[in-house]
Amino acid sequence: MAGELISIEQAKRKVLDAVQPLARETVTIADGLGRVLAEDVVASGHVPPFPSSAMDGYAVKAAPAFRSLSVIGESRAGSPSDAVVTSGEAIRVSTGAAVPEGADAVIRQEDVEQEAGMIRTTAETAAGANIRWPGEDLRRGETVLRAGTVLGTAELGTAVAAGAAELGVARRPQVAIFSTGDELRAPGEPLGPGEIHNSNAPMLIALTVRAGASALTPERLPDDRLHTQAGLEGALEGADVVVISGGVSVGPHDHVRPALGALGVAERFWGVALQPGKPTWFGERDGKLVFGLPGNPVSTVVTFTLFVRPALAALQGAHPGGRRAQARLGAAIRRNPAREQAVRVRLEDRDSATIAIPNGPQGSHLVTSLLGADALAFIPAGDGELAPDAPVTVEYLD
Ligand code: AMP
Ligand code: MG
Repeated sequence: MAGELISIEQAKRKVLDAVQPLARETVTIADGLGRVLAEDVVASGHVPPFPSSAMDGYAVKAAPAFRSLSVIGESRAGSPSDAVVTSGEAIRVSTGAAVPEGADAVIRQEDVEQEAGMIRTTAETAAGANIRWPGEDLRRGETVLRAGTVLGTAELGTAVAAGAAELGVARRPQVAIFSTGDELRAPGEPLGPGEIHNSNAPMLIALTVRAGASALTPERLPDDRLHTQAGLEGALEGADVVVISGGVSVGPHDHVRPALGALGVAERFWGVALQPGKPTWFGERDGKLVFGLPGNPVSTVVTFTLFVRPALAALQGAHPGGRRAQARLGAAIRRNPAREQAVRVRLEDRDSATIAIPNGPQGSHLVTSLLGADALAFIPAGDGELAPDAPVTVEYLD
């Protein structure tokens, strides 16, 4: 951090420049949720595959109302009728059942009166009424999902409809998580003098999993140079991404940078014009990405969100951009003269605008400022205050 601080965008660019997309693997549809497609999905047939009924009713030839028709069979979903409909005839059909040959319309059950073996229509039927046509949803050969798409509810359903049983997806990034600090105790452990609980490790696991990556068992490193180096050495072999919280600032007990230097991790930046998150460090070795995030819990979450999350997306071939939107500031914020601020905000809709309301005190040690926060609002560096109602860009947290 001896030199100039770089902007958030410059830092993100350096991270993305270092990304080498991971290899692909095949997963079943059942394991696809949250994965990123490594290949396009093409429909193997028309969907629907055959003309089918949109209603429970009768397949008929289109005709004016008040006809008597003899019912010559039934087509059920999954069990088509092989009878052919001629005028004066009808075949009972269920929703989703194949429309039998000869019929060009379906009259709804509600629009007929049933008599023994016969129906009497009480409404007109137009050609094509209540028929779903082959290919209305997907056409054979059509590309329905593109490589880089994150698989969610709709994508999984569409892939199955397109005929897929397995999908080529990017391998999940393996993320090694380290918490540094002699003061850290495991959850629930009694605290001695000067000690605190390690709240970063579970948050880093949560952020990692939400980003579609796998978190390896987190480890704690003491504030000592040799142990730090020894602990990080193995992770650089086994993981794709190493995330370290704490120990990257300028204090006498911050050993992460020299340890990584000794391990041959090349520094790409140290110091971002960001509050919280100024001492953020990033380096790489042989395609492995290494992030040193400042240890205050809010700084850790903010810098993971801004720099690690895009990297995990890009490693999987997905679009790295966090979801951003425009909002109006709900309360005045004092600007930082030298650094852009990422303020935790709640978003509320008011009079057709989205209002970003600062989520209480913003100290980077206040983990509770993350509770209920929807987004980070970016406050550009400058003098004075940003006034209420000023337009701000926000990035969603999850
Ligand atoms: P550092 O970045 O190591 O200088 O730590 C900055 C502040 O964050 C200090 O107050 C640390 O005690 C605190 N801190 C560091 N790591 C953690 C952690 N894993 N959980 C909670 N607080 C932490
Ligand atoms: Mg520390």
